[in-house]
Amino acid sequence: MRKIAIYGKGGIGKSTTVSNLSRALAAKGKTVMQIGCDPKADSTKNLVGGQPIPTILKTLKEKKKNVQLEDIIVEGDGGVLCLEAGGPTPGIGCAGRGIISAFETLETLHAYDTYQPDIVIYDVLGDVVCGGFAMPLRNGYSDEVYIVTSGEMMSMYAASNIAGAVRQFANRDYASLGGLILNAKNIENEEHLVHKLSQEIGTGVIQHIPRNPVVQKAEHQGKTVVEAYPEDEMTYVYMTLADKILKED
Ligand code: ATP
Ligand code: MG
Repeated sequence: MRKIAIYGKGGIGKSTTVSNLSRALAAKGKTVMQIGCDPKADSTKNLVGGQPIPTILKTLKEKKKNVQLEDIIVEGDGGVLCLEAGGPTPGIGCAGRGIISAFETLETLHAYDTYQPDIVIYDVLGDVVCGGFAMPLRNGYSDEVYIVTSGEMMSMYAASNIAGAVRQFANRDYASLGGLILNAKNIENEEHLVHKLSQEIGTGVIQHIPRNPVVQKAEHQGKTVVEAYPEDEMTYVYMTLADKILKED
């Protein structure tokens, strides 16, 4: 089982990239489990027709000890196993702490042993890397980290911070950095800027994902591009990303 964490600044395109990647990996015959670690709980929405799925934290609150895996795992398009950690009521409670409880629940219920995914992908917000949001980097939860960034200053700043957090954990044999994923915002000199950043943090840019309106067209149907437009060039881009990630193994 490979465990991959995808980090990046808020709004940079993590959930879109992760959902398309999960769906592309599924098309290649892999059993994929996608775990949204954002209190917004919208990571997997394009794999399940656009509607929200029950979150682990909310289900835990309602069912307490009676929670079962079927309550929190929804099989999405292509058979991708979809989960959302969820979060506290805004203004009350700590989102990071929520992620920790969600992860503990998955362990207690033996989610990984039961479903035996080939690949687990965590979709994680990268603006804060506090204990909870750093959870996928720790305790063996993930082996590799990829960071989604554009050439915008703030997303490169976040990428650099996340790379620093990964480095903190590296010597303890935790997750290591697999590379950057450039999700273009069509900034001037964008490729050059992101390549320069990758060199500064000692990694590579594994894939350039162009900005393309077909992504939103699919999103409006509650779908990934891979599902809605299998012949589109963007599907080819996400399939290529999937191939590269598989090759890193
Ligand atoms: P958050 O941090 O809030 O969870 P996020 O990083 O998960 O955000 P997304 O929700 O995936 O970001 O994407 C934000 C918006 O950008 C979405 O409307 C999505 O359709 C759009 N988007 C992402 N990638 C692309 C792309 N390559 N081309 C066009 N639009 C894109
Ligand atoms: Mg998201």
